[in-house]
Order: sequence, then C-alpha cells, then structure tokens
Amino acid sequence: MRSKYIAFLLAGMLTLSLLTACHAPDPTVSGTEPSASQGEQEPAPGKTGEIIQTDAPQQGQLPDASQQGQLPQDSGEAPGKEPPAQEEPTQEVIPPQEKPVEEEIPPQEKPRPSSNHTLYILMYHHVIDGDESRCNDWTTTTQRLREDLQWLKDHGYTTLLPSELTSGAALPEKAVLITFDDGYASNYQLAFPLLQEFQAKAVISMIVRRTVDGKPDFLTWDMCREMTDSGLVEFGSHTYDFHGNDPRGIQRMSGESRKAYEERIFSDINESIQLIEENVGRPVRFFAYPHGQTEPWANDFLREHFDVTVTTQHGAADTSDGFYDLPRYNINPKQPVSKYLPD
Ligand SMILES: [Zn+2]
Repeated sequence: MRSKYIAFLLAGMLTLSLLTACHAPDPTVSGTEPSASQGEQEPAPGKTGEIIQTDAPQQGQLPDASQQGQLPQDSGEAPGKEPPAQEEPTQEVIPPQEKPVEEEIPPQEKPRPSSNHTLYILMYHHVIDGDESRCNDWTTTTQRLREDLQWLKDHGYTTLLPSELTSGAALPEKAVLITFDDGYASNYQLAFPLLQEFQAKAVISMIVRRTVDGKPDFLTWDMCREMTDSGLVEFGSHTYDFHGNDPRGIQRMSGESRKAYEERIFSDINESIQLIEENVGRPVRFFAYPHGQTEPWANDFLREHFDVTVTTQHGAADTSDGFYDLPRYNINPKQPVSKYLPD
C-alpha cells in the first residue's frame, strides 16, 4: 500500500510538474482543448494575412466609403464594395443634370424685345445769340435751345447718337435724336457749350464743301474734331456740294440716265464721307437728305453707306422697320420741343 501510495504521489507530482512547466501562468486554462486550438491558430496570422490581403482592397475602399460617411448600413454588411459603387454614379449624375439647367437660363433671359420703337428726331440748323425776331424757320436762339434741352431733361428724355441707335440695344422709353443740318459754325460756338452743359448728344450733317472752302459761317475741321472728342457729337453727310439753291437736292434730273445719275451723285457723297472720316477720324454712318428730298435710285447706295438717313417730313419716327428715311420735327422759337413731344 505504501509503495502504491508513493508511486501515486510520484505520478501525481510528475503530472503536476509537467503541467506546471507548460502552463504555469494560467493554470485554469491548462489542460483545456482551446490551448491546442490556439496553437493551431498561431500560423493563422498567415491565413488571416491572406484574408487581410484579400480584404485589403476592400478596406482600402472602406475609408473612402466611411469618409463619405453616409452609408453606415452598407459599410457594415458589405464592407467596401457596394457603397462606392453606388455613390460614384450618383456623384457623376448630378453635374450633368445641373449643367443643362444652367445652359437653359441665358436663352430665357435673352429675348427682351424692345417695347419702344418711337424716336423723336429734332431738326435744328443755325443758332444765334440774340433776339427771336431775327430768326426764320431754320434758326433758333441760344435761349430757346437752352429751354429745349432743359425741357428734354425735365421730362426724362434720353438723347442718342446715330451710332447708339443702331448698336442693337433697345431704345430708351423717351428717345431723342438731336440733329443740326448744314454745319454752321454756330453749332460749335453757341450750341456745343449747351450740349456740354446738359450732356446732350447731337449729330451734325455737314455740307462738306463749305468747310473745305473755309467759308466763315461754317465749321472748321478743328471745331469738328473738338466736338467729336467730347463724345457728344457725331458727324453725318449732307452731301459734298448738292445743297445749293436747287431744291431737288440729290434727286435725278429730267432725262438723266441712271449711269449718269450715279456718277454725278454717288461720287459727291463718297467724297463727303471720305473727307469727314479723314479729318474727324470717325466713320460716317448718318445722312441727311438735302432739302429732305429722297431719290429711289439712291436707296441701295445710301443703305450700303449709311445706317441712318433722315428727311424733313414732319412727325415722330417709327424705327420698327429700320432707320432709313426717318421724319423729323423742325424746331425753332415758334415751334419749341414742348410743342411736339409728349410730356
Ligand atoms: Zn440743309
């Protein structure tokens, strides 16, 4: 019995020592299967490494998905793959939807047809600084011109240059074109200071030969340049020399051939355009018919060379059909602007 007991004790001690040697830190776990299974899992880092590698691209995508951060359900169940696949298309779709919307806006804003096609064209000629009794139908005084400009200002009228009329912009509601015919020096000496004072714009149609010949009552080129530089005045043609006593102006003569007519008239008008442009430095796009007389044979030529032509017919101009052969109001002390234009 004693030897059995000793052998039992020895066996027990041997077992205990063996167990203690293997699992001293954690006796409670010792002897359980998990310790063996843990041992098998040790190499598993290689396997888990493989898993990680296969997951790595997915995890690489996960941060993106998690940064985008709006699909917690997808990122939990199907890490990585679906969230980006779903989000990317939606991000790509949005801009194409927005762009067409932006492109559609400008065409909707563009069509803004002008509701106003009425242009009031005022016709002046000579200006004097003195008594009204010295005025004829083609003359006004500085005092009357001042009153006209003041009236236009007080009633909200906008004065325009010929180049502004045909720029394509809509006419202001109360649009006025101030014209001076013949090219008198008084336009510079007396009218121009008033145009500057009121910042009113005007077009002066010259009988060019009178300036070329240096006639004392007519504009010099220096005067023309100074007025042009102000930005308030443009110059038009009133022909080079077809504004004498013959009231027909540029109309054809009895029995005149078309070829002879064109040579006679067109060369004159061409010369007026060339001289004004050479001396003033601006294109000439405005023509006032001498004595207001139109001529069908000149229509094509005038439309080719000018943007605006005016007659002496009385009335307001309707520009809905263009800017040719427009009527005017002759203004003088007996017929001030306030007599014709609406308040
Ligand atoms: Zn004239």
